[in-house]
Amino acid sequence: MLNLILFGPPGAGKGTQSEKIIARYNLIHLSTGDLLRSEIQAGSELGLRAKTLMDQGLLVPDEVVIGMIDHKLRDHRDAAGFIFDGFPRTVKQSEALDELLATYDQSISVMIALVVDDSELLSRLLNRGKTSGRPDDQNEELISKRIHEYNSKTKPVADYYQQQGKFVPIEGIGEIETIFAEINKAIDSVTSK
Ligand code: AMP
Repeated sequence: MLNLILFGPPGAGKGTQSEKIIARYNLIHLSTGDLLRSEIQAGSELGLRAKTLMDQGLLVPDEVVIGMIDHKLRDHRDAAGFIFDGFPRTVKQSEALDELLATYDQSISVMIALVVDDSELLSRLLNRGKTSGRPDDQNEELISKRIHEYNSKTKPVADYYQQQGKFVPIEGIGEIETIFAEINKAIDSVTSK
């Protein structure tokens, strides 16, 4: 099984690259941001609570996203592998993911991190906001808050996987296909081990 974490700040290109990775490696896509937006759309209790935090650019509680991932892993026991996108975002979520995967005799194969500087992220997200309809992409202050949440709570997640020898940084600025080729190299070096 290939269990891949696609890591990087908001606007790094995780959505674009994950679509390409899924198509090539036949993985199940688990994006906690997408799952939360579905809950909001459905008007669920969980969605309502998450929306208040998402509208402020803050992370939703660890228990909420860990519970969602737990359900999805159970739903797809026969998958060829998973791509985790926007999760884990805290060290607590990383520890919970390791524990969940261990119950299936599985583990994370690799973390691929897209590296993009803050000023490029801001302009990409403001641009995306013009077409995505995402309220959290349409306000500079909110975008800065999300990048701040990333730098303070999410960046330590990279160290967590680095300590396990699973962290692969990739330059996230450039042609989509060039970046994808680098990602493929990283994945293929793990799967050929
Ligand atoms: P994303 O689509 O990944 O940019 O996520 C949008 C928003 O959903 C984030 O700004 C957070 O408020 C929330 N969110 C998504 N994934 C997580 C996560 N793993 N942990 C906490 N909050 C999350």
